[in-house]
Amino acid sequence: MFERSKITQACEQFALRLQRTIGDSRVIDDPDILEQYATDKSHCEGVFPHLAVRARNEQEIAAVLRLASEYGVPVVPRGAGTGKSGGAIPFYGGVVLDTTRLKSIVEIDKENLLAVVQPGVITGEFQAQMESEGLFYPPDPNSLESCTLGGNVAHNAGGPRAFKYGVTREYVLGVRAALMGGELISPGKRTVKGVAGYDVTALMVGSEGTLGVFTEITLKLVRTPTELSTLLIPMPSEEAAGMAIAKIVAGGLVPRVLEFMDGVVVDVLRQKGIAGVSKSTHALILAEIDGNSEMHVEREVLQLAELCENSGAEEIFVAKHGGDREKLWAARRVMSDALAETAKHKVSEDIVVPRSEAPRLLAGLKKISKHYGVSVPSYGHAGDGNYHVNVLWDDDGFEPSAVVRDIFELTLSLRGTITGEHGVGLSKKPYLPLEQSANLIGVQQAIKRALDPSGLLNPGKIFTE
Ligand SMILES: Cc1cc2nc3c(=O)[nH]c(=O)nc-3n(C[C@H](O)[C@H](O)[C@H](O)COP(=O)(O)OP(=O)(O)OC[C@H]3O[C@@H](n4cnc5c(N)ncnc54)[C@H](O)[C@@H]3O)c2cc1C
Repeated sequence: MFERSKITQACEQFALRLQRTIGDSRVIDDPDILEQYATDKSHCEGVFPHLAVRARNEQEIAAVLRLASEYGVPVVPRGAGTGKSGGAIPFYGGVVLDTTRLKSIVEIDKENLLAVVQPGVITGEFQAQMESEGLFYPPDPNSLESCTLGGNVAHNAGGPRAFKYGVTREYVLGVRAALMGGELISPGKRTVKGVAGYDVTALMVGSEGTLGVFTEITLKLVRTPTELSTLLIPMPSEEAAGMAIAKIVAGGLVPRVLEFMDGVVVDVLRQKGIAGVSKSTHALILAEIDGNSEMHVEREVLQLAELCENSGAEEIFVAKHGGDREKLWAARRVMSDALAETAKHKVSEDIVVPRSEAPRLLAGLKKISKHYGVSVPSYGHAGDGNYHVNVLWDDDGFEPSAVVRDIFELTLSLRGTITGEHGVGLSKKPYLPLEQSANLIGVQQAIKRALDPSGLLNPGKIFTE
């Protein structure tokens, strides 16, 4: 849709005007820095941007969008670049608009349980700050030490605690966003209720940097639970683990974390000497129960343990305090890197199926693995039916797209979705039409055109042209 040579030409005038507007030093054209903006944590290949701006305030963001619109330059919003679907990588070049310098917590309103933040605040730092105030911001993507709240909202990030507390969307009360052209809008509210007009906030959440650039976000908070217990449960088989998880959910227990790791993952963890992974372990469950009553949490821990024992668990590790809890999390924390070390190549998808379909999903993945002769281990947020399915292979000539397509087709046949957390971005856009009808994609493209008629904001993402 955009020719690189035309963007190069447009960028010359654009850069001059931008330098005059926000200052020479604010417009980056150093190739070493631009190179960093051509990748994220996905396997997608992007192109170098022509320019980058590390915005310091809302005025600079609006100026970039206004001038880029005038000169026809694509703009790629970017947070910390931890995205796994290529959302923050330029597809056509243009200017990367880095919002990580906007990192203030603008307001903490304890009485109304909300905070107003800038988009570059690191998620983990925000959580720590809230906890020091006796408040709790539950969404916990595993990248929380490095990712930004702006990136989380743009991808509607989830995490292990989503089973009980929900994903980022549930905590976004409002945003302030700059549109392509530089106009500012502030959809949302500071109240619990509020139904005036269309829910534009909801539209902005998960829009992957294609509808607007967040300059401020209003987040809902909850009170910090006082009691917390972590359980690591080695299981004798994947089926036994599946049965235990089904019983936990059906039994009405709502642990804040309910994670599953399959047999292949367990083998890798065993080789690494991770605690709790004995010879007879062929799947793992990691669970956390929290609440405000010690008696209540202890009762639920016992119930959960009993359900797992009835499904075949012989040993259950329980911890209540920081260091001990971290030891039980070790398996989950090292797993992704440990898997990557077992093969030359790895792609990882984040599919979701209705919880009741998990056994059929796991059986189907085994068939796919056998059919293609590649390892397809999976782990994930079993409580949500959200599985990280990996394809691992050594042969440099092997092309994994057929395996990935089969995984998505299996997922959709079980009435699931191709992405639960990471977004469509570049990596999944060829597969979106497998899940969504042409009419539904058309509605989304019409919304995109209404907000960004020239298609300059994060072009090449989500939809194939
Ligand atoms: C080790 C690891 C673990 C991960 N675990 C999880 C997990 O558990 N759950 C999960 O959901 N994800 C996870 N991720 C993926 C990733 O961390 C999340 O998608 C995260 O929300 C991206 O934040 P970011 O600041 O890095 O954004 P980026 O990668 O920089 O950008 C992501 C998207 O947001 C847009 N964007 C960024 N800032 C803005 C802004 N200010 N305004 C508008 N759009 C913007 C970009 O255009 C892009 O489309 C993981 C990634 C890694 C590497």
